[in-house]
Amino acid sequence: MEIPFAESWKIKMVEPIVKSTRQERELWLRQADYNVFQLKAEQVYIDLITDSGTGAMSNRQWAALMMGDESYAGASSFFRLKETIGRLTGFDYVIPTHQGRAAENVLFSYLVHEGDIIPGNSHFDTTKGHIEGRKAVALDCTVDEARNTQLEIPFKGNVDAKKLERALAEQADRIPFIIVTITNNTAGGQPVSMQNLREVRAVADRYHKPVLFDSARFAENAYFIKLRETGYADKTIKEITREMFSLADGMTMSAKKDGIVNMGGFIATRRQDWYEGAKGFCVQYEGYLTYGGMNGRDMEALAVGLDENTEFENLETRIRQVQHLAHRLDEYGIPYQRPFGGHAIFVDAPGVLTHVPKEEFPAQTLTVELYLEAGIRGCEIGYLLADRDPITRENRFDGLDLLRLAIPRRVYTNNHMDVVAAALKNVFDRRENITRGVRIAWEAPLMRHFTVKLERL
Ligand SMILES: *Cc1c(COP(=O)(O)O)cnc(C)c1O
Repeated sequence: MEIPFAESWKIKMVEPIVKSTRQERELWLRQADYNVFQLKAEQVYIDLITDSGTGAMSNRQWAALMMGDESYAGASSFFRLKETIGRLTGFDYVIPTHQGRAAENVLFSYLVHEGDIIPGNSHFDTTKGHIEGRKAVALDCTVDEARNTQLEIPFKGNVDAKKLERALAEQADRIPFIIVTITNNTAGGQPVSMQNLREVRAVADRYHKPVLFDSARFAENAYFIKLRETGYADKTIKEITREMFSLADGMTMSAKKDGIVNMGGFIATRRQDWYEGAKGFCVQYEGYLTYGGMNGRDMEALAVGLDENTEFENLETRIRQVQHLAHRLDEYGIPYQRPFGGHAIFVDAPGVLTHVPKEEFPAQTLTVELYLEAGIRGCEIGYLLADRDPITRENRFDGLDLLRLAIPRRVYTNNHMDVVAAALKNVFDRRENITRGVRIAWEAPLMRHFTVKLERL
């Protein structure tokens, strides 16, 4: 008999979670104005709102906390982190920050100016925010295939090299650098191939432009390269990350993702001019250069987290769990962004709630239904998140309308995934009876999804 797959760790400490009744959830969700961001965590049974900062640290990481050196300047914890990052990426210069967007803020304060254009593959919302906030343009050059949720291709997060080339041919003088997000979060946690990273590098070199990797899930990306790209099956994850980063000038990192810490981030680069240019902004916005936005103990835990999460077994356990949930949804015929990505399943909400009109926000309605069904909290990545057009003030219904089920690292078991799938199936089975969605009662002018107040129709 073939030995089945199981996790590459065992559990030493547990945290109780509580179930609730449908009646309780009806009340809580009404009190939260049908916005799951407004729920208390204790009102949630299985929390898939994000994989950011929600991972479980290992025994080695908890032990490393005690080794934290809290010296203001020159802390040994900083040098331990710097050495680890150097080993994984080849980058010599490191600036710690309190999270990923802070790394963007510090580096972009130096690199991005009014009128600039920053081409890339589906910029993450904070990345876009830090670009647009400086009156520059985030130009999306993702491959068109990413918009078709049912198309199965191995590297759906790729940059379209032709779109990138065109942007550079027309506007090179306005482009300070190219950004590649690995994995491509916005397109559904879809990976970018090594070949595509090489193509981007080649285009960049022709126009003498640097390349920045937004690296929040670089380890998951390396795992997909090992599994899906020819020539990488026998390479270690650490060999693959070294090769990936050899094609970049620097990186911004949200350590809350693949660093498996609850808070943290950094900039790393091989370019002395970027380091010299950014370091003043680090002191201004974050803190002195050898701690930036982080405690010494957190830098220790991050160094260990980066080291562990660039080992194959750890990534295999994680991605096989995402795959487990995907296979359940396949069994039940529930449509999602294919193939499954690294950190989440993105359910195609209009494909589930076929009778809810787009004006009544199908993905938000599905988020509400899933919570009411079993206390599971997902996150709408759809028409609410898309905000209104800044000029016409109309809702933007032209993109995808997805329910994201983001899976925290090393937190839930596959039994929990089975609960999620069964709850979703129950909603799917009664889809004929779900004909109305939600209506906006109040919204903020920007980033409305965090605070929006809704009414059920
Ligand atoms: C989370 C994330 C960020 C921002 O990082 P924070 O730690 O949340 O500030 C940037 N880019 C990508 C791709 C992310 O997933």
